[in-house]
Amino acid sequence: MRRVKGIRKNTLKMILEASKDTYPNEFGAILRVDDDGVIAELLLVPGTIQGEKSAIFQLHMLPPDFNVVGTIHSHPNGVCYPSEADQHLWSKFGGVHIICGHPYGPDNWRAFDNAGRELELEVMGVSRL
Ligand code: ZN
Repeated sequence: MRRVKGIRKNTLKMILEASKDTYPNEFGAILRVDDDGVIAELLLVPGTIQGEKSAIFQLHMLPPDFNVVGTIHSHPNGVCYPSEADQHLWSKFGGVHIICGHPYGPDNWRAFDNAGRELELEVMGVSRL
């Protein structure tokens, strides 16, 4: 898996906007890095089920892609920490996982590694949220 240096500000903005649009359901997507190792793209996985409880990723639908580094999903209850189900999924897939929580403001998100430990993820780029 690629080393992740940070996340583009525009990508983070897109995540927060999509989470707002999907509220009160969860939003979920796959994170992809660009050639510099910065998370810059979201992949929507076919068959991802978005409900009030969980965004279920159909990860077997993903084509092999070495720039895929992890997942993002929203928590409509506002709690920016992984559930047991999240930790289980993360232990099997990727290395960087983001949770953003309602009300999805610029600071309402956290990044974790695949053991559920909080990660510092630098927000990169010049555009303002
Ligand atoms: Zn969750």
